[in-house]
Amino acid sequence: MDNKQSISIITGIMAKFINYTGKHLPDDVLVKLKELRDSEDQKLARLVYETMFDNLEKAIQLDRPICQDTGVLNFFIRVGSNFPYLAQLGDILKEAVKIATIESPLRHNAVQIFDEVNTGDNTGERTPFIHWDIVDDNDYVEIESYMAGGGCSLPGRAITLMPSQGYEAIVEYVFDTMVDWGINACPPLLIGIGIAGSVENAALLSKKAILRPIGTHHPNPKGAKMEEMLEKGLNEVGIGPQGISGNSSVMGVHIESAARHPSTISVAINVGCWAHRRGFIRIKSDLSYEILSHKGVTL
Ligand code: SF4
Repeated sequence: MDNKQSISIITGIMAKFINYTGKHLPDDVLVKLKELRDSEDQKLARLVYETMFDNLEKAIQLDRPICQDTGVLNFFIRVGSNFPYLAQLGDILKEAVKIATIESPLRHNAVQIFDEVNTGDNTGERTPFIHWDIVDDNDYVEIESYMAGGGCSLPGRAITLMPSQGYEAIVEYVFDTMVDWGINACPPLLIGIGIAGSVENAALLSKKAILRPIGTHHPNPKGAKMEEMLEKGLNEVGIGPQGISGNSSVMGVHIESAARHPSTISVAINVGCWAHRRGFIRIKSDLSYEILSHKGVTL
């Protein structure tokens, strides 16, 4: 098989993967949504959960995306320096998005800045957004995909605080943001928080935080404790599914952090909605693949 054929096969795999993840939630999100539905005791909130599950079933039956807003595609990549298609990967993902836009279909969500023109194929300036980590020696690529919808991107915020304001100020910022904006993002929400020394680092980490599987914890026990307390506190606000009030507001709170400058503490928030369309695929140099977010699935 020549290089051209191999690239075409990877493009096809990624186009199908994007299509699939727009129509099927990852395993961990499904488990969490079922848990929240089963523990909900308010009648109307339970009905909303039932409607969500009905929606999920219909998406599969009718072969349609779970939500009309299929978002802007984000890819977070860990690629081995020996992966033979490393140089072509950016173009492969762009092409895969164009194909999925037609075949899935995906809503046209790429509007060029300043020209204010919708490109019509979900690609554009730095879109799909790709974040790269190059890993020494490996010969495979791991791709985390995320469909960033408008509603769930709306509460995104970042700020740099004075260190003297302490971790209490982070908690206050998270609560203020979620109370003001959370309802726009189709709860129950997955809250990603990035803590670092500058806003751009915190913002990137907050996005990485919502890519972590639900149920995982910050490696530092103090970070894990803060995640647990924020989750408990936000649930007590009782936003409920779709904001109609209920037992829960969130599917989880994830914090990712980086060492900060002594004079600053920056915090950023990113939010995933109930239709948290995240995927994780590993493609090897022999073109075999494994989907880690949706166990046992072949495309
Ligand atoms: S927030 Fe999520 S479920 Fe709600 S409209 Fe946007 S993408 Fe769809």
